Amino acid sequence: MQIVVVGGGLSGSAAAATLAEQGYQVKLITYHDSPRRAHSVAAQGGINAARPMKEGDLDGINQLFQDTVRGGDFRAREASCQRLAEISSSIIDQCVAQGVPFAREYDGTLATRRFGGALVSRTFYARGQTGQQLLYGAYQSLMRQVANNRVKLLPRRDVLELIKVNGVIKGVVSRNLLNGDLEVYTASAVIFATGGYSNIYFLSTNSIKSNASAIWRAHRQGAFFANPCFTQIHPTCIPTGDSYQSKLTLMSESLRNDGRIWLPNQVHDGRQPSDIPEIERDYFLERLYPSYGNMVPRDLASRRAKELCDAGFGVGKDGRTVYLDLRDAIREKGPEDIRSKYGNLIEMYERIVGDDPLSMPMRIYPAPHYTMGGLWVDYNLMSTIPGLFVLGEANCTVHGANRLGANALLQCLADGYFIVPSSINAWLAGQNVSTSTKSIEDACKDALAITRKRIDKIIKVNGHNPVDFYHRELGKIMINRCGISRNKDGLIAGMKEVKILQDEFYHGVRIPSAVDGLNPELEKAMKVADFLELAQLMITDALAREESCGAHFREEHQTLEGEAMRDDQNYSHIAAWEYVKGGKPIKHLEALLFTNLKPTSRSYK
Ligand SMILES: Cc1cc2nc3c(=O)[nH]c(=O)nc-3n(C[C@H](O)[C@H](O)[C@H](O)COP(=O)(O)OP(=O)(O)OC[C@H]3O[C@@H](n4cnc5c(N)ncnc54)[C@H](O)[C@@H]3O)c2cc1C
Repeated sequence: MQIVVVGGGLSGSAAAATLAEQGYQVKLITYHDSPRRAHSVAAQGGINAARPMKEGDLDGINQLFQDTVRGGDFRAREASCQRLAEISSSIIDQCVAQGVPFAREYDGTLATRRFGGALVSRTFYARGQTGQQLLYGAYQSLMRQVANNRVKLLPRRDVLELIKVNGVIKGVVSRNLLNGDLEVYTASAVIFATGGYSNIYFLSTNSIKSNASAIWRAHRQGAFFANPCFTQIHPTCIPTGDSYQSKLTLMSESLRNDGRIWLPNQVHDGRQPSDIPEIERDYFLERLYPSYGNMVPRDLASRRAKELCDAGFGVGKDGRTVYLDLRDAIREKGPEDIRSKYGNLIEMYERIVGDDPLSMPMRIYPAPHYTMGGLWVDYNLMSTIPGLFVLGEANCTVHGANRLGANALLQCLADGYFIVPSSINAWLAGQNVSTSTKSIEDACKDALAITRKRIDKIIKVNGHNPVDFYHRELGKIMINRCGISRNKDGLIAGMKEVKILQDEFYHGVRIPSAVDGLNPELEKAMKVADFLELAQLMITDALAREESCGAHFREEHQTLEGEAMRDDQNYSHIAAWEYVKGGKPIKHLEALLFTNLKPTSRSYK
């Protein structure tokens, strides 16, 4: 049986390698020139796992389960979180067996560190390159199957449409990025592992190729899109340098283990950090959240930094950064210890900013980073289109309204190595695989025609502005209207602005060559066209969710202390949106039932 896997990041490569090991013939389609280039390679800090300290020790599993549900502010499916925690230890075993060089203690046991939203140390890491090392592990397994002729790699292809017969997915249409040819790939089941959509904000920590096209096309073909407005803004990123910048760089959350976040305690303080005495520094996270301090979850750290910068306490040339200071840790542990833990992060910061973080505090600011929303999937990771499975950041399963740091890599590998290889068997076993050749051929022709039409429509605009012009504008609207905090008026205004921009795009975008061969500008335009549609669904979802939960902070719904006010009575659900051609999307609700952990207000004080 043929299975098409779209995406060669951590979740896609893990799934393709495992399915081939089980005996399937797999085609792996990626946008990048190699699975090793997928955005997963950029993950820095680590991967969570609950390792039992002795036989039958369930405490660790329970704690990881609880931190995941609580971290997501009780907006994730409980059973999926439980399964994630249970599988987590096997994932570390699998990676160790592949040779992933996790950090170790002097006695050889695997080392861990703490991540935000947790009081225990359970994050396994390989310096600041955990994603890269995990991806290389998965890639090795994948290439073994390529050598066995069980996996065929199809790089530099952009999946732009789905092929469906009687509502069931039967394949995909992709555009060959080197020659512009449209190609069809049919299969008994299709897996999308295409990553997240933070690039909708233009400036984000994602790779500039990360996009939403495959999942957005699936949505238009009937896959429900769940919680699209749940987007995570990461507190510790290198701030924007100038208006030509196209990407932001993350400074891993792990730095908050040793770094203290602070601002001067008077507004518009122009002094150098070294001239500000201890008594005039405000370690605001430690002040506001004494028990978690700098390790509070990302949504809280980001929101607090933004509020203080808005109030004039921010530092840097435009007053929109805060300090992340390693000084005290260096004094206590010595510079060598800090360098050995965070070597490549320190080097990256030095290269980009030009300052040495060992002698001067880093300047950081929140940036769009991760999307908890994605295609709705059931417990078996199947979308509402039968036969279409969705893995990793592209789906919406375990992170609720705010992902716990170091849980994304865990989810990708759980989905790819463990869950989909068994759930896909169960689904295929119940299918009649003998769909007539004629109906598949007709469906392929239809899908090709739709794709051709979309490409022609964009090429024919022949306007005056490059694609990035529209993408940058969209990013500004989204960060202002649907970013760290949101309110009703802003969201309504944002919706109007996106619609106007979309109209301008279809009148003003210019694709430099009318030939649709190798044409990177056309590639980008297809992505931005989809982002313009997805943006409207994100705003619709944010407007509909009249509560604050996790990273979705509606200013109308907050306590006197400025903390998020959840409304469990009315919003304890996953909002799964159905596409309606030419009409308003329909909202379906998956009620969230908590049997093992009673929803409580999140408190990190
Ligand atoms: C800077 C950074 C650091 C991070 N650090 C951590 C960390 O320390 N711990 C943690 O748990 N998480 C971390 N994350 C999150 C984590 O890295 C990602 O969530 C995860 O790697 C996503 O993996 P994925 O398999 O879902 O998708 P990706 O790795 O994004 O792969 C997507 C794949 O899909 C392909 N693709 C996309 N669209 C198409 C299309 N239309 N046609 C064909 N192919 C397509 C791409 O080519 C690629 O191969 C970090 C994220 C960032 C941005």
